[in-house]
Formats: sequence, C-alpha cells, structure tokens
Amino acid sequence: MKVGIVGAGFVGSTAAYALVTSGGASEVVLVDANEKLAMAQAQDIAHAVPFARATTVRHGPYEALDGAGVVVLAAGVGQKPGETRLDLLERNARVFGQVIPAALAAAPEAILLVATNPVDVMTHIATHISGLPRHRVIGSGTVLDTARFRALLGARLGVTPKSVHAHVVGEHGDSEVLLWSGATAAGMPVERCAAQLGHPLTDADRAAIDEGVRRAAYRIIEGKGHTAFGIGSGIARIIAAIAGDERAVLTCSTLTDAVAGVRDVTLSLPRVLGSRGVVDTVMPPLSAEEETALNRSATILREAATGVEQ
Ligand code: ADP
Repeated sequence: MKVGIVGAGFVGSTAAYALVTSGGASEVVLVDANEKLAMAQAQDIAHAVPFARATTVRHGPYEALDGAGVVVLAAGVGQKPGETRLDLLERNARVFGQVIPAALAAAPEAILLVATNPVDVMTHIATHISGLPRHRVIGSGTVLDTARFRALLGARLGVTPKSVHAHVVGEHGDSEVLLWSGATAAGMPVERCAAQLGHPLTDADRAAIDEGVRRAAYRIIEGKGHTAFGIGSGIARIIAAIAGDERAVLTCSTLTDAVAGVRDVTLSLPRVLGSRGVVDTVMPPLSAEEETALNRSATILREAATGVEQ
C-alpha cells in the first residue's frame, strides 16, 4: 500500500522509517511545507532501504499523494512560550484547514491517520474539516500509552509485553484511563499471574506503573526534547493493520456517539482496524472507578472540542 505522510518532522519521519524497517508500505511519500526538510528526510530514509524492506521512499508536493491508501497527518506547529493550549489548537486547526483539503484532492480514497497533538482534538477537527465518514479518520490516540502499559506490566511480571493484554483508553494525555480491571497476562488477571510468578503487584507497584505510563512523555521530552520512536512505531503498526485488513484491536481515537455518558466525543477505545479503517469498537467492562475516570476524560475532551467548534 502507498502511504503519504504530511509533516516530515520528528514524528512523521520516524513513522516513515518504521514503515521501511517493518515493511508496512510499498511506497512512502513525504510532504512538508519545508520542502528541503521533506527531501532530506526522504533521502536519508531511502538509504536505509538496502538494509530493510523493499520500499520506495520519496518526497513531493501534495499531488504525489495520488493513490495513497493512508495519509498520516503529522504536520503542526509546536507550542510557543506563553501560548495557551487553545492558541496552539487554533493554529494547528488552521494548519489542518490547509493540509486536509490538499491531501484529499490528491488522494480522495485515503484513510486519514492523525498524529498531531493534542491528537484527540486534532482528530475531532480532522473529522469535521474532511467531511469523511468517521471510520476513515483515525487518531493514533492511546496506542502508545497502551504499549507503555503493557511494557511496564511485562517488566514487573518478568514476561514479554506480548503476553500481556491491557488497555489505556480516553484522552492521550493527563486524564487517560489505565484499565487495570481487565488487564490479563497468560490468560488470567494480571494480579493472579503476578502472584503465581512470585512478583505480587502491590499498591506501590500499581502507582509506579500508572505514573510511568501517564508521565512518560514529560520525562522523555525533558531528556531529548521530543518523542518519536514509540509513536512512529505505533503509527506503522496501525498502518499494517489497515494494509493487511487484519481486524487487529488497537486503542485508537475516533469520533464516538456516546462514551461514559458523554456524547459526540473523539477519544480512544479498543478499535477493530481493517482495510476500511475503524470497522468496529469494543467497549471494555469497567470498574466503577474506571467508569468515573473515563467520564472525566471524555468530558475534558468534549469541552476542548466545543472550544474549537465555535
Ligand atoms: P513533531 O515532533 O510533532 O514531529 P516537528 O515540528 O518536528 O513536530 O514537525 C512538524 C512538521 O510539520 C514540520 O516539519 C513543519 O514544517 C510541518 N508543517 C507545519 N505546518 C505545515 C503545513 N501547513 N503544511 C505542511 N507541513 C507543515
């Protein structure tokens, strides 16, 4: 499948590199307002192809997105000192106002995969600007937070994260909800598995894992200024699920009729992904505490969306 990426900065270029190393696309086209940057990233990544999977990597104008099955939206402008979150949102909404019509004019059949932060609100905006059916506008959402949750649980239990199933839902951000009640490892509740393996989960372990997932981005940004590898790999994973019509369940953000008592909100839940985009949503059973936390997260996102709809 041909994949377009608009925004060749840290996130967009790392997603392109992850696609090349995983073999998730036959062709990757990078587009950026900074053409020199798009060209440099495309060349650098193309030089990894002999060591990776057969992929054509190039840069181009929007017209070069012609025939793309997925267009990743990773364009945006970072928060400036003194700028409020709403100012940032308004600026990035203007960027999407230019980028989305241009991308869809070239690739009218594409699924839009939004990575620009704040990703849930940007996905909400992209759904409105594009006028596409909601199943074709997907935000990377909490795909990365879920990966972090599984990684930390796996490390605590001493098993590979691939044998841990646990989801983070709601906002990709401070109010996200770690679903402890449904977390399993080796086909049983994580607590039971942990105890059997001789590493019982204490309240302090849970608090440390919660903090590790929720605050990960802050710590990484403090150390290196941006995050890229985790989200780039998550984007490549979502694209593989679409390209392979896998019906893989991944926590992605999309406009949803009603969640935890909140209507018309764009947030992450476990979504079944296939060639049409989001083909289904699974609503996990929630404890009372998780239900309250998800209502809070959905309310925050609903209010942020109302702010930009006006
Ligand atoms: P991130 O860390 O989120 O990837 P970057 O600042 O590294 O952030 O990348 C964002 C990219 O988006 C930049 O390369 C910038 O040139 C690009 N960009 C910003 N506005 C537009 C636009 N209107 N059209 C295309 N690309 C844009």
